[in-house]
This record gives sequence, structure tokens and C-alpha cells, in this order.
Amino acid sequence: MIAYANTPLFWDTLGQIPRLNLAQFPTPLLAMPRLATKLNVKELWFKRDDLISFGLGGNKIRGLEFLMADALAQHADYIVTGAGVQSNHVRATAAASAYCNLRCKAVFWGRPPDQVDGNYRVTRMLGAESFFTGDPDRASVDQGIARICGELIDQGHQPYPIPRGGACALGALGHVLAAHELYEQCDESGFMPDLVVLAAGSGGTHAGWLLGTHLLGNPWQTISVTVSREVKAVRAEIARIANETAFYLHIDWQFTPEKVAVHDGFIGEGYGIPSPEGANAIRLVGRSEGVLLDPTYTGKAMAGLIDLSQHELAKDRSIVFLHSGGEPAFFAGAGNWLQKDTNVSPTNLNR
Ligand SMILES: *Cc1c(COP(=O)(O)O)cnc(C)c1O
Repeated sequence: MIAYANTPLFWDTLGQIPRLNLAQFPTPLLAMPRLATKLNVKELWFKRDDLISFGLGGNKIRGLEFLMADALAQHADYIVTGAGVQSNHVRATAAASAYCNLRCKAVFWGRPPDQVDGNYRVTRMLGAESFFTGDPDRASVDQGIARICGELIDQGHQPYPIPRGGACALGALGHVLAAHELYEQCDESGFMPDLVVLAAGSGGTHAGWLLGTHLLGNPWQTISVTVSREVKAVRAEIARIANETAFYLHIDWQFTPEKVAVHDGFIGEGYGIPSPEGANAIRLVGRSEGVLLDPTYTGKAMAGLIDLSQHELAKDRSIVFLHSGGEPAFFAGAGNWLQKDTNVSPTNLNR
């Protein structure tokens, strides 16, 4: 077993895996002093992956740099992926496909929406072809992707399937690099956070950060706030993807689900349904720092961080919050979930 922390050799190996250069890195690491004061934490920084300079940004671009390079190496002519109609992942994949001159088919659960807005409007504009499973079950997307790939193969095409969220070993590599990127940024400015907080949906992002943090010698603790799956399921997914990624990199290491730190209690009524706590978190961050969060991921993750800031784990600590993007979903629908205005401070967040 190699000690990976500060071993340039390992990061060089990772650097040699084919990767499409879609955006400029590093993304900014910005101090949020007003919010830090309100939350009573020592230091609070946002890692601005929402500002990734391609396809409206967000964490999904990092995984797509590896996935699209692989698709091109395999001479694919179609990218097939899917999720919910307001998916950031599908929008980002549609942009990357267009950029690579590949056709894109997007499978969505449920039925076509009445409004073509937010991410869905962008996805359609980018030329991705949409299919609806007619089934509200999110897993119906996985069968839909497999079925469409089968049809394309029958027609003599070379489809490249990307699972929901890009949650697989190759996609997670992008987030391993993100952890390394943050480490270098912090190192340069002479500080290290105690905690990195991020949103977990499909789990690929946390999986990459978990492995990346481990490879750096655990300079901080990485904790996610689940916005979709129940905590036991998401822990298992994160460990599974992190282990697959470690295996892919020939790293002799296994994560167990119990060791994956996930904060629970902020899903609200369900995935993609804005919650009052998330809306309050969005207002608080917007009004103190002028930064926009989204109702599906980062708003709920911030609601989780606000809660954590009142507990021992985060109280009086230096924290990096991963702003993983998602803003287009803020502009989907009428936004009624934001109407119930309250004068926000962390202490009157109606939990
Ligand atoms: C997809 C997404 C996440 C979560 O990433 P997973 O890898 O699916 O867990 C967080 N924030 C935003 C904005 C996303 O689009």
C-alpha cells in the first residue's frame, strides 16, 4: 500500500487518464464572511463549481470530462443518459455531446411537463432528443437507457450509456481531481478546512471526494447532505462507487458504508421538491453574500450545513461548502415555493 498524500506520482497517473478539456480549472474558492458570522462558524468558503465555464457549469462537467473522452475513444456516435426533466446532469451531458459532435438521447421519468423551462429548455435547445418513461419511478430511467441503447445497436449505431448523475467510476474521477484541486488552493493560501460539505444525490460526487480526500491523507472530513435517497441507501451507493473508482485506479482500499458521513433530515417532501428549509437557506445565502443556490441540491445542502453549524461537528470550524451548481432549476416553474417570505436568520429557520 502506497502512502498517497503528497505523492505526485499518483496524481500524475490520474492525470494521464484520457480527459476532455471542457472547462477552466481551478474554480474559485471564495470566502463568505457574512454568512460565516451568521452561522457562527470560524471560516466559511464556497468552492464555486457552479462557475465552471462550460454548459452552465456545475459538478457534472467534472465527470463528463472523463466520460466524454472515453465515449470518443470508443468511437461512440450516440450518448444516452437520463434523469428527471430538470436534471443538471442531462443538460450538461447534452452540452458536452453537442460540443463533441455526438447525438444525445435523454430519458426522463414520468410524463412530459407542461412548461419547457429551466434545465429542460436548455437541454432541448442543445438538440438532445427526449424520451419519457411514463413511470414516476426514477429507476425506470435505467431501463429506458438500456432499451434505447439496445435499439441503437440494432440499427448499427455505437451508443455510449452514461448512468443517472454520471455516477460511476469514470465520472467519480472528476471529483477525485476536485478534492486535489481544493487541497492545492488551500495549501497555497496557507489554510486547511476542517470540513467539506456537499450535496449528495446519486452519490458519485461524494464518492470521488471521499476517495480524493483519502488519497490526500484526509486533511479534512468530507460530509454530504442527502437530498434524494434515504441515508442508508446513499451511504451504500457512495461506498460502492468509491470502491469501484479505487479498483479502477488499482488502489488497494475499501470504504464501508458506515464510514461514509451523510447528514440526513433535509430531503423535505422528496427529491426535486423545494423545501421551506431549503428556501430559507437560499434566501439567507442570497441576501448575505449575493450568491444564488438551487432548490434541489445546494439549497437543501445549505439547510443541512446551517443545522450542522449548531452542532459540535461544525461549530467554530473552518468549512468549505461545495457550490455544485444547479441554478437553472431555480428558474423552473412559477417559484411559488419562494413566496412565503420570512426575515431570515439562522435562528428563525423553521425546522
Ligand atoms: C447532481 C448534483 C449534485 C449531486 O451530485 P451526485 O453525484 O448526483 O450526488 C449536487 N449538486 C448539483 C447542482 C447537482 O446537479
